[in-house]
Amino acid sequence: MVHIVGAGPGDPELITVKGQKLLSEADVVIYAGSLVNEEILKFCKPEAEIYNSAQMMFEEIMHVIAFAERAGKTTVRLHTGDPSIYGAVQEQMDAMTARGIEFDVTPGVSSFLAAAAALKQEYTVPGVTQTVIITRRGGRTPVPDSESLKKLAQHQTTLCIFLSVNLLPEIKQDLMSAGFKSSTPVAVVYRASWPGEEKVIKGRLDTIVKQVQEANIERTAMIVVGQCLNSENRQQSKLYSPKFSHMFRQARF
Ligand code: SAH
Repeated sequence: MVHIVGAGPGDPELITVKGQKLLSEADVVIYAGSLVNEEILKFCKPEAEIYNSAQMMFEEIMHVIAFAERAGKTTVRLHTGDPSIYGAVQEQMDAMTARGIEFDVTPGVSSFLAAAAALKQEYTVPGVTQTVIITRRGGRTPVPDSESLKKLAQHQTTLCIFLSVNLLPEIKQDLMSAGFKSSTPVAVVYRASWPGEEKVIKGRLDTIVKQVQEANIERTAMIVVGQCLNSENRQQSKLYSPKFSHMFRQARF
């Protein structure tokens, strides 16, 4: 049996209870070493076989999994954050299905959520935006034309941009040409939740490139853009308003 597990964004305590249990029982662990905090491997059995997938090719990963299956062992495939977001996990699941290998998936806390926690920020602020777009900017790996940042930006939602902090100048250009004001708030969170390593940078479209350069941030960072970050926009949520009834409470006025 193979368990695909989301390791969470970095803080080893942000793995789920279920994920930790599966990790502590696994005979074989294959972790995405480029991003998973190795501290999390302390939950593994001392005799567990541990592989870093950053140094492996796809077929090698599948070989380790198939070999463990034949020996009747349990494997955990540990992905950073949540496996469903830029996890390169679909091809592995498809290959396991094709080879008749049984697997399940345990979700994890994605880094865009850890970034919100670091920023102490709600992404869906009432009266401002009720939508979050998770995306990346096309670089070495292309993004479909219909999903270019320029097009997505038209909606003025909260944007959480993965894998792109090295393309911040291009992102600024895209957003400016989509009509964003230079004063649009932007935040960059480096290594959200990693104990002792997290950095939070808050700025505007016209200041953020310099701020991020000065902080020496080149990778493992979340870019958040949108008016949700603008504290002048606040409106009270209807959820706790005395004028608003819902299933659990009657209006008082
Ligand atoms: N599956 C992961 C994302 C993997 S793609 C998840 O759900 O979070 C790798 C990208 O995720 C990085 O380039 C960066 O944009 C983001 N990322 C991963 N961990 C991060 C962290 N702790 N803080 C900020 N961004 C992070």
